[in-house]
Amino acid sequence: MTAPSELETAVNADVPAEPTDGYHLVVDALKLNDVRTIYGVVGIPITDLARLAQAEGIRYVGFRHESNAGHAAAIAGYLTKKPGVCLTVSAPGFLNGLVALANATTNCFPMVQISGSSERHVVDLKQGDYEEMDQLAAAQQFCKAAYRVSRVEDIGRGIARALRTAISGRPGGVYLDIPAAVLGSIIDADKGAKTLSRLVDPAPRQLPAPDAVDRAIEVLAGAERPLVVLGKGAAYSQADDQIREFIESTGIPYVPMSMAKGLLPDDHPQSAATARSLALKKADVVMLVGARLNWLLNHGQAPQWNPDAKFVQVDIEATEMDSNQPIAAPLVGDIESVFEALAERTKPGQISAPTAWREELAARSAQNVAKMAERLKVDKHPMQFMGALKAIRDVVHERPETYIVNEGANALDLARNVIDMHVPRHRLDSGTWGVMGIGMGYAIAAAVETGDPVVAVEGDSAFGFSGMELETICRYKLPVVTVIMNNGGVYRGDDVNPLGDGPAPTTLMSEARHDLMIEAFGGKGYRATTPAEVTAALTEALASGGPALIDCVIDPSAGTESGNIGHLNPKGIGNFTGKKK
Ligand code: ADP
Repeated sequence: MTAPSELETAVNADVPAEPTDGYHLVVDALKLNDVRTIYGVVGIPITDLARLAQAEGIRYVGFRHESNAGHAAAIAGYLTKKPGVCLTVSAPGFLNGLVALANATTNCFPMVQISGSSERHVVDLKQGDYEEMDQLAAAQQFCKAAYRVSRVEDIGRGIARALRTAISGRPGGVYLDIPAAVLGSIIDADKGAKTLSRLVDPAPRQLPAPDAVDRAIEVLAGAERPLVVLGKGAAYSQADDQIREFIESTGIPYVPMSMAKGLLPDDHPQSAATARSLALKKADVVMLVGARLNWLLNHGQAPQWNPDAKFVQVDIEATEMDSNQPIAAPLVGDIESVFEALAERTKPGQISAPTAWREELAARSAQNVAKMAERLKVDKHPMQFMGALKAIRDVVHERPETYIVNEGANALDLARNVIDMHVPRHRLDSGTWGVMGIGMGYAIAAAVETGDPVVAVEGDSAFGFSGMELETICRYKLPVVTVIMNNGGVYRGDDVNPLGDGPAPTTLMSEARHDLMIEAFGGKGYRATTPAEVTAALTEALASGGPALIDCVIDPSAGTESGNIGHLNPKGIGNFTGKKK
């Protein structure tokens, strides 16, 4: 045996007798804080982190693109009220994940993106490292907060801080940068363990002030035509019973925003969803519950709204008040606490929606429901959106535990109206940005987190943003049925290029066979050209409990430009539309 070299002696002197490293501390800190699932894409420098997490009992779900992994983490956060965690590699992988982090923040979903990053000293001197990027600086503007762990002994604090920031107050996306060198750093195991901590009360209740509650009661009590608007913050809060109790005891009609559908069943007698325009135009007191007066609510402005309406707003974020309209009664607090306080401080019968108003809305609802029933009866060939969507609606009615994921333009707008929801938090869609690309990520996380079936109703264009995750769905054998509204285009498939030298900007391949895509990965593909075929395929697919895709062949001329929001396209002087004459 030869004597150890000088270098070997020096290295051994630095290695503790019972060592641990950054990888282990990250996994231990996540486990200590009940993180049970990580969504990610592996690569340098985080591959071993994913391996170790899995070996230590954290479920790791590996994706094909970081945006989809990030969207999965975000919606997992929404569904579970715990931060969803996404793991990305440095620079390009990090940037791919950032869309989802920003989308989570915009939608107020709790999520943490943990990303490996390159050597700090090389990055900071811009010496051209592998995947070099100042990720912390890049992330700052796209999330609620961004942190970096620069020393192995700060891993526990970094993770605790990231998780608490994501979940407390208004939830949002948090970025946590962990350079490769920190992951590989060695530290004494005992010393390392002492740096970890379990969060106490990570999302503390925020009680509203009693005078703010009394003010709101007074405003609501004076209303002749009160209306409650339920947003996805209300669904997220999981205060289902308290919200229902308030609505039913006061008799106030309510309108759900799209992801709040099902918080109370869509066929509830007080739902004014089917008399929405009239409700908004005439309500004199509007109580916003976890819903922002943003573009989705026309900023609370006339002519969609009564210009004299008074607003009561329930939100955890004080700075949301007055962002679009003056708020007569701000109720800042978490929704559960606010509704408990309202129940405590309202005298019996003090808030009560006048019968005339309820009847006016109910009459309009009945008219609109009858009109919709007529539209849904039409069974034209080639198949229209309505025919396919009615078939989907009728099948999922039988299985109310089914999660509906929905994105697209017409596919989104029409499905939102046709597919009614009966269970809270079961409709997951494009949300506040109207973003495309959430489809497969949301579907995967819904299936992974709940084990329940998922039907993803996708425009053919929207599906393209995350379609490769069909492989992920098949690899994990998830109960996800993807239903594609295939009209061969973005919005519609019949635009023409006036020069005739290639496809028009909005067209996709009309003969595309999405059903064959899933078969490449062992899933079951169906092609449906009539509503009856949609019914048969979806019934069989849901009964199988495995991955499936139904390509619904829709009339290429069906669909309107940008769906319901065509008015947001700026008007120029020319007419560029390439409609066939
Ligand atoms: P929608 O798009 O459905 O109208 P928004 O995303 O615009 O809903 O609004 C959600 C609102 O809910 C945000 O302003 C957010 O601050 C608020 N929020 C989220 N969670 C809670 C909670 N637990 N208590 C109170 N407000 C909440």
